[in-house]
Parts: sequence; structure tokens; C-alpha cells
Amino acid sequence: MFSDLWIEEKHEVGYGMRYQVEQVLYSKKSEFQTVDIVETKGHGKMLLNDGLVMVSERDEFIYHDMITHVPMLIHPAPKNILVIGGGDGGTAREVLRHNSVEKCTMVEIDKLVCEACIEHIPQTAEVLKGHKKLNLIIGDGVKFVQETKEKFDIIIVDSTDPIGPAAPLFGPEFYGNVKKCLAPNGIVVSQGESPFFNEDIQKSMLEVLSSAFENTYIYNFSNLTYPGGLWSFTFASNSLDPIADFKQSRIDESGLEFNYYNEGIHKAAFKLPTFQRKNLEGLIKNP
Ligand code: SAM
Repeated sequence: MFSDLWIEEKHEVGYGMRYQVEQVLYSKKSEFQTVDIVETKGHGKMLLNDGLVMVSERDEFIYHDMITHVPMLIHPAPKNILVIGGGDGGTAREVLRHNSVEKCTMVEIDKLVCEACIEHIPQTAEVLKGHKKLNLIIGDGVKFVQETKEKFDIIIVDSTDPIGPAAPLFGPEFYGNVKKCLAPNGIVVSQGESPFFNEDIQKSMLEVLSSAFENTYIYNFSNLTYPGGLWSFTFASNSLDPIADFKQSRIDESGLEFNYYNEGIHKAAFKLPTFQRKNLEGLIKNP
């Protein structure tokens, strides 16, 4: 028999999502957030930060395919990668599947998230136990991009919502530093919130990006656990275009197999519904 315990993630007035919980596996509070891992009835194990679902075993492949392989397969030879946030390990796991990668630096602010996921969600976090190409830093991504002298081919901002320590990850100063850290042909992709519930955040992210980069886009994917199902990532580069510079041969040569990503999804993801296109009018360069 399953327990009667349900967790509820509330968003807009009158809107929330509920998951039946079989067992609470981990529950702690760090200086940044609460960190919980629960075993659910339908979605496998789930990580929640401050009560918001970050990852479920059932659908994490979608988010991690789309945040990682879209930029990795546009760039002709991604070698040095930076992941900011991503404490569950899923993004680093996908980055490290690419043979071209020589080094992946991951900067996660909250040690507890990594520890909890290593212990309870090996599906995403196994890689965090140690990988010869992974440099895992527990620290603030905002400070890291301010101080590093390294240049990265791809920077992936796999962050929580713009609250607390993640708030500056959505601002102009951060992206000014990101630009400075990108190698020629560099790409930055960031967690871009919901087209339905976060129109204002999407607009301000694109305003920030379009004032710093030549090519700025937003692309969408569907998933099971984020409010509204439809979710976005932003894309920015000073040289590469996500459609014109995308070649099917890069997928073939990678030798990788994916459960969500494919060449059709890659192209379609950049086609926006009209309400989202209107909201971001003038901010998507080279549409
Ligand atoms: N897939 C998730 C989502 O969109 O809901 C995000 C996953 S990951 C768990 C997000 C991580 O970003 C969190 O573990 C959080 O601690 C981390 N984070 C927030 N602000 C940060 C910062 N300034 N520097 C580094 N990591 C940060």
C-alpha cells in the first residue's frame, strides 16, 4: 500500500501540482535552501529545493538533453565547458558523454544538494563521485565568472529560479562576466523559466542577453514536472547561430543516443508559439 502523504508545489493562485510520496529519503536545510529527496509513486525519486521540484528520475532526461546537447552539437568542437549550478549532476553527466570534452568545471553553491543526490539519486549524480574530466567546485557561480581567467567554449547555467543566490544569475553584471569568459565561438545556455508563468523574467533575460550578444534566442521543451509543462532555455552567442550552424552530421559523428533530443526537436525547439514571440518581439536576433 502507498502512503497517504502527498507533496504539493503551489505556483499561481489556483494552480499547483501534487505528487504521492512513498518515502521521504532526505530532508535538510542548508544556508541557501531546504533540500528534500522523496520517493514518489509515479515519478521515481525527486529532488526539491525550497519545496520546488528540481529533478525527477522519470523525466530528468528531457531537461538534461535539451540544456546540454543543443549547445554541444551546435559548437563545432566543444572542449572546455562550465556548468553553473546543476547540483543534481545531470547536466555534467550529459556534457561528459561528448568525446570532444577535455574538461568540465561545475560550480554549485550548495554542497548539500550534491551530497543528497550522490546518496539518493545516482541516476543523475553518479558522475559527481569523481570523473577524470570533472572539476567540481562548491562555490558561487557569480563570483566564479567574475574571477576566472579561463575561457570556456560553452557555459551552461543550470540554476534554480531567480530567488536568493540564483537571482544575480539572471542579471546584466553576470552576463557581462560570462561574455568575458567565453572563447571565440562560445555559447551560453541558461535555464529560462516558463513561457506561461514567467513572461516578465523571459523578457528581462532576453533584454540582458540581447544587449551583450549578437545571436540571442529562446527555445522550448515539454516536460512532466515543471509548472505548465512547457519550459524554456535561453541561448546566446556572438558568432554561432543555433539553426544556421547546426549540422545533422554533428549528431551522427557524436555517436550518442538520446531519449528526447534529435535533429527535428533541435530545429522545432526554436519555433515559438505566437504569444511568446510577441512577448519577446525585437529581442530574438537573427530569427
Ligand atoms: N533543473 C533544475 C530546475 O530548473 O529546477 C535546476 C537544477 S539544479 C538543482 C539548480 C542548482 O543551482 C541548485 O542546486 C542551486 O543550489 C544552484 N545555484 C543557485 N544559485 C547558484 C549560484 N549563485 N552559484 C552556483 N549554483 C547556484
